[in-house]
Amino acid sequence: MKKILYLLLLVVLFINLYGCKSNMEAANNTDMSNKNSEKIIIAHRGASGYLPEHTLESKALAYQMGVPYLEQDLAMSKDNHLIVIHDHYLDRVTDVAEKFPDRARKDGRYYVIDFTLDEIKSLNFMEGFTVKDGKKVQDYPNRFPMGKSTFKLHTFEEEIEFIQGLNKTTGKNVGLYVETKAPWFHKQEGKDISKATLEVLKKYGYTTKDSNVYFQTFDFPDLVYVREKLMVDMDMDLKTVMLFAENSWNETYEQQDDGSWRPFDFDKLRTPEGMALVAKFADGAGPSNDMVINGKLSKKGNIVITDFVKLAHDNNMVVHPYTVRKDKLPPYVDNVNELYEAILYQAGADGLFTDFPDLGLEFIKNHK
Ligand code: CA
Repeated sequence: MKKILYLLLLVVLFINLYGCKSNMEAANNTDMSNKNSEKIIIAHRGASGYLPEHTLESKALAYQMGVPYLEQDLAMSKDNHLIVIHDHYLDRVTDVAEKFPDRARKDGRYYVIDFTLDEIKSLNFMEGFTVKDGKKVQDYPNRFPMGKSTFKLHTFEEEIEFIQGLNKTTGKNVGLYVETKAPWFHKQEGKDISKATLEVLKKYGYTTKDSNVYFQTFDFPDLVYVREKLMVDMDMDLKTVMLFAENSWNETYEQQDDGSWRPFDFDKLRTPEGMALVAKFADGAGPSNDMVINGKLSKKGNIVITDFVKLAHDNNMVVHPYTVRKDKLPPYVDNVNELYEAILYQAGADGLFTDFPDLGLEFIKNHK
């Protein structure tokens, strides 16, 4: 009898041990798959490698490719509508110079903020170009042919309704990744673009960290204002991302105590103390590719990473670098997959922005 009990005990022990092992294996497998599924692909200005950036057509294509997030860049019109456009100028991507030749400012640029929504909607939108010797030259020659077919600009509300409509018809829950362009500039012009953006997000039901949206900005003083003032006043608590620029780009200006505006110093944020400060206001960090991979030291087959991702992770922030373009690769990779590998798995970023979302999604799916 004792022997039988002993045997039974052994069987129970064995089952328990085996069960535990299976659970552990399952847990490990889950960890592994989470590791991959946590890496996210953000459609940079939509599927902008295939269709003109930020058009609803480009968003629809990226949506169908299966991205979890579509990016919106926002600028404000003269009559206070939020326009989905990358620059706060109209001249790189529309025929504004032909339609409204006398509306440029002294610097020769046509500002979104000087035009009404009706005027903006009258423009034809196209693949980005630069004027050289009086001729328009397409910036990415192998992309959608400049000036072909017909594309129009649209408002932030129209894009949210478009994405929420698709979410309804497909049963998916694709998110927004919103950037307010140059809040400092809008402030100089008497407009509060961040407040307007939050009002629209709230109207469409995006109010908490569980809402499927990231709010991103290059303007650190404005991010502090968004977190400490606007979101408090409006009873909102969205996920936020601080975007990092090189100082040489003059991406953001900061108002001084004497009222003057000076270029914002991003370098001070890329230190352990700076990153801890950013983490008080941001859930994530958006560096350029060059900030997570040392482009000077990296060679083919020998990627040298920076300490950016570690610093951000040490401060519990996710890292989503910008931008991977198949047709604009750095010299240390042979193809786009090597760049996805370097950013996501060697530098350890949590996701990335790419103009070719299908290639990014395919890369993650196939990554072992
Ligand atoms: Ca952007």
